[in-house]
Amino acid sequence: MAAGGEKIDYVFKVVLIGDSAVGKSQILARFARNEFSLDSKATIGVEFQTRTLVIQHKSVKAQIWDTAGQERYRAVTSAYYRGAVGALLVYDITKRQTFDHIPRWLEELRSHADKNIVIMLVGNKTDLEDQRAVTTEDASEFAQKENLFFLETSALEATNVETAFETVLTEIFTIVN
Ligand code: GDP
Ligand code: MG
Repeated sequence: MAAGGEKIDYVFKVVLIGDSAVGKSQILARFARNEFSLDSKATIGVEFQTRTLVIQHKSVKAQIWDTAGQERYRAVTSAYYRGAVGALLVYDITKRQTFDHIPRWLEELRSHADKNIVIMLVGNKTDLEDQRAVTTEDASEFAQKENLFFLETSALEATNVETAFETVLTEIFTIVN
């Protein structure tokens, strides 16, 4: 039983990965608390936040893990990935390098996580369209090739953040049912 006395049918662990400063913590803040901060500090210590959603009349608690400023290559530990059934693989649409690093993150994710993990490629900061350095087509093509879901988001404007998590959680729900 949760604090409110409501029944939780499922708990799904979802991890956020991607280079530093792409907006992982703000995506999580938007989803978990509907908050956003433009001067967010680098995350310290591994942390997760939860939010409970109803999917097909069942209550699903999403436990979303955020990296602790360990975004250097191979610095994220296997404990972080353990038990994860979903992942948001995030890059910044205004920073080409963060997209170029996605294959590494994907490889690391696939080597540590469950083979059935549901992965969403997320291009964040669409509110900065005038600074765009990664086309939607390039990312979409990569996602298709690698069998990933794909969405572009803005944590600042709250665009597609909800949809990104809902898509991943619904897909996980479908797989376990
Ligand atoms: P993390 O290192 O991946 O966790 O990135 P943060 O969530 O800490 O965000 C890094 C910086 O980008 C912060 O200054 C955020 O305010 C900013 N940021 C995050 N998401 C967005 C967004 O959607 N649009 C804009 N313009 N800035 C964002
Ligand atoms: Mg962070």
